[in-house]
Amino acid sequence: MPQRIALLGSTGSIGCQTLDVIRRMDGMFEAAVLTAHSNWEMLAAQAREFMPDSVVIADERWYGDLRKALEELPVKVYAGEQAIEQVVSGGGVDVVVNALVGYAGMMPSLAAVSAGKKLALANKESLVVAGKLIMDAALRNNAPVIPIDSEHSAIFQSLTGEVSPVRRLILTASGGPFLRTPREMLCDVTVEQALKHPNWSMGAKITVDSATMVNKGFEVIEAHWLFGLPAEKIDVLVHPQSVVHSMVEFCDGAIKAQLGTPDMRVPIQYALTFPVRNEYDGARFDFSMAQSFTFEPVDRVKFPALDIAYDCLRRGGTAPCVMNAANEVAVEAFLRGRIGYVDIVHTIERTLAAAEFTPEPDIDTLAHSNDEARKIAKSIITN
Ligand code: NAD
Ligand code: MG
Repeated sequence: MPQRIALLGSTGSIGCQTLDVIRRMDGMFEAAVLTAHSNWEMLAAQAREFMPDSVVIADERWYGDLRKALEELPVKVYAGEQAIEQVVSGGGVDVVVNALVGYAGMMPSLAAVSAGKKLALANKESLVVAGKLIMDAALRNNAPVIPIDSEHSAIFQSLTGEVSPVRRLILTASGGPFLRTPREMLCDVTVEQALKHPNWSMGAKITVDSATMVNKGFEVIEAHWLFGLPAEKIDVLVHPQSVVHSMVEFCDGAIKAQLGTPDMRVPIQYALTFPVRNEYDGARFDFSMAQSFTFEPVDRVKFPALDIAYDCLRRGGTAPCVMNAANEVAVEAFLRGRIGYVDIVHTIERTLAAAEFTPEPDIDTLAHSNDEARKIAKSIITN
């Protein structure tokens, strides 16, 4: 019996690569649900190819067009963000691949694990905002959470089969497009420069997050929730070649790493086939090409977002939620040319200073904190 996948965000970068993995593993997986935000044309084309039971378009304005495009097919068509939460909990779904971007992924992650579904998680913002609630619900309902994010997949793979204590996790970072840009020149960098990631081709938001290193900060928080280690035991190391995807140091000093060419289809496939590995015919890493690997510490003055994220992780409560909300508003403003690159982190800092703090938020408190932080960030940007 094929495993039935609900793929949330099927029209995005991770979504399309997940469909490619499903296509290549002929018959092992079935796309039972596909969802998109507003790109109904691509969603309709995907539905024609993969014949899911249902599709969801989050932005209700496109419901009519999507329905019409699929009227001759036996595919149920739904609209609205709440419909996404409903379809992931349904009986016809074994695995939820959460490839949504941003805060919008939080409720679907929670719905998936609450329904006891295996969650293959790309949407790191879920864990940044609501890591405690999601991991608690996963534990209560016996729902496995398997990372897709390449660093966390590398750690997950390095931990497989181990039973002894971990001394620390070492997350690698490419350093992004501004690794060698002098700090005083960061004021003038353009959107176009920020969108040119040296090693990975990804959605716009995560590409900007990589340029500010907000992404690496979020990955530290994500690692904390996935692997249960405190901030002090999670390190970040710049590795510009992006071949060593991350490492684990054990109590005896041994270090395990997972390596490979930068290709997200590898961690996506592993999350779906775990605990086994499947054949994959993508590009292979070639040691005979005389490549050299380098490692260096992060310049924490040039990339203050990393320490802000560590700080939010240590503070806990609503702090990471506020950081995430401010970042989402600021990145959108940056992409629209309304603020500069350095203003992204300034907006985060000022929003964190102004927002209310709740130490043990429930889901409603997180939603309120997200709304409030967005309002604060918007007013900082407008003024
Ligand atoms: P993307 O922008 O390419 O795709 C996002 C998808 O989510 C799209 O299908 C879009 O339609 C949908 N979506 C966006 N907003 C929505 C909303 N409000 N409601 C419902 N659907 C919505 O993003 P991506 O690069 O594929 O990243 C997805 C997630 O995976 C992010 O959390 C990112 O951090 C993480 N991630 C991505 C990569 C990568 O290589 N792209 C690597 C590691 C982790
Ligand atoms: Mg990553």
